[in-house]
Parts: sequence; structure tokens; C-alpha cells
Amino acid sequence: MKASQLFKIGDFRTVEVDVPTPHGKELLVKIGSCGICGSDIPRIFELGTSKQKYPLTLGHEFGGEIVAVGEEADSSLVGKRGAIFPCIPCRNCEPCLSGDYAMCLDYDYLGSRSDGGFAEYCLVPSEWHFVESTNPDLSDDALGMVEPCTVAQHAIRKSGLTAGQSIIIFGAGPIGQMAARWAKIFGASLVVLVDVLDEKVEFARERGNIVLNSMTTDINEEFKKMNHGKPADIIIEGTGAGAALGLGIECVKTFGTVVMMGNPHRDTTIKLHQHSQILRKELKIQGIWNSHYADTPINEWHYTVKMMDAGIMQVEDLITHRSTLEDLPKLCEDIFTHKVSICKALYSSGK
Ligand SMILES: [Zn+2]
Ligand SMILES: [Zn+2]
Repeated sequence: MKASQLFKIGDFRTVEVDVPTPHGKELLVKIGSCGICGSDIPRIFELGTSKQKYPLTLGHEFGGEIVAVGEEADSSLVGKRGAIFPCIPCRNCEPCLSGDYAMCLDYDYLGSRSDGGFAEYCLVPSEWHFVESTNPDLSDDALGMVEPCTVAQHAIRKSGLTAGQSIIIFGAGPIGQMAARWAKIFGASLVVLVDVLDEKVEFARERGNIVLNSMTTDINEEFKKMNHGKPADIIIEGTGAGAALGLGIECVKTFGTVVMMGNPHRDTTIKLHQHSQILRKELKIQGIWNSHYADTPINEWHYTVKMMDAGIMQVEDLITHRSTLEDLPKLCEDIFTHKVSICKALYSSGK
């Protein structure tokens, strides 16, 4: 089979490898699609794999069809489609014992520590990682977007948003737009996206969002005009930039919540008066990391797939680039060198 593997930092190639054989509880999944995550680009060109293990098949946002299972797995799984939860937690540490698998202290991970989804097939440790879709019309590409869509859902849940509240989301990329969709599903009265690039503002507007450019617009004033004079109940900071965090602090109401979702790329600086506002307004600053996979209080992955199956959460219109495995290394390079600008890009088997 073909697999796109990282051989060393900057050396990402599509090669022929053997199709793995499932043993024990393992599942063999025929990949339908696998998204290129924002984290894959620095992984390929700057950082390498987490444990500098090479060669490694990258890709952790994927789904597909189970085509074979090991001798201890349920053989009726063969033929089922779904998304794959890529984290392999130790199940022994304190976070794992409380079901907080994203916080595991000693985890393995498909696509960054073990072979992942940029391949024709992927070996998955057990049925536990499989989130079944029961709608045969749900596209493979949508299954490849379950992971980022669930991160977006997690951010909205952690924000504590309740029906009737208003929200500003900084960053109009795929996760920002999916967060906007969850906010509407959860009953937000007003959802406004903010970005600094006209191209992204336009793309998100074309998809039915209210989007403002913070380079040319006073976000605080414009938002209040749309919100009966009131500041936002909730801010999602999805860019990782200090400027957006600071602006979010200015735009949120007293006792409001600022969710920090975007990964930082450099030291974060906010202005003195913004720091003071955190105190004066008694703001709640909430960090988020990945998503929640235990069934209590709710398995966010199962909920994403359920909402996709029902057609309530739609994501395919965010895809700007679909690639074969052969063309994937080139696409990743073009993203890294800013030759192409993407919303969501993915490897799609084209089914
Ligand atoms: Zn990711
Ligand atoms: Zn653990």
C-alpha cells in the first residue's frame, strides 16, 4: 500500500509499504480521508515526530471502513464505517483513571507517535477507538473532519455557553467556523467570527457567518451594535496570538469567559489595561486541550458523529483542498511555504 511517511525533518515522502495485519483486538481500517492538521506542517518541516521515531506515517484526523480484525476482535465490525480516536492513553495514570484521556501522562498517538492515517490502511489498537457512523450517505471526507470538529465542540462546551448567549470567536479557519456552527447548535443568540485576513473573512462570510476584520474594524464597538449595546458573554480565542487574546478580554462582559483554544507560536503579550480587565471584570480564563472521549458526562466524539449523521453538523463546505497520497507531500510543502492558502485540506481516497 501507499503511505506518506516522515523519514526525517523536512523529508516527507509517499512510499510503498506492506499492508499491516491485525492481531488480537486490532482493527484494519481502509482510510477514507485524513485531514492535514495545523500541527502536521511544523511536525514535517521544523519539529519532527514527538519521539523522533522514523519513518512514521503521519495523519491523525481520519476515518474509514473496517476491512479486517484480529482474532480477539468482534468480526461483525468488518464493513462498518466511522472515525478513529487517535489517542492511545495508558489507562493507568490519574487523568486516565478519571476518564480524561487527553491529559494522559504517557500516551501513544496514531499519526505522531505510531503510524497514522496518511496511508491506504491503518492499524487501530481496538474497537474502543472506533466511532461508528450509521449514515451511509455521510461522506468519507466528513469522517476525516470529526477530530477537529470535536475539538471545536469541546471549546464550546468548556465555555459553558447556554442558549441565548452571545459569542465572539477569534480565528475564522476550519476549527473557528466549526466552533461557530456548534455555538448555533447550542443556541447562541449571536455568533461573530473575527480574522485579520480579508481572504479568510470573505471565505467564512460566503458560508453564512457574520465575520469582522479586526485590522479594519473596531470589534468591541461593532459587536455591541449587533448585540443591543452589550459586550459578548463568551470569547473563544482560536489564533494563539496575544493581540487576539487581549482584544477578546476587552470585548467580553464582566464575569464573562475567555476560552483559550489556539496554540501559541511565541511568547504571549497582552497590554496592561487588558491584564487589569481580567481582574476588574473577574473574568474566567479557560484553557482547553483536545476533546473528551469518556462516556461520562458525554463522549464528544460520539456526539459529533451523531450530529453529522443527522445532517445537523455539516463540514464539507470548509474543504478547499483534496489530495491523493502521491500529491500530499507537495501540498504540505506548498502550505508550509504559503504558496497555497487553505481552509481545510485533506487526503481523500476519493470515495
Ligand atoms: Zn490535529
Ligand atoms: Zn494515562
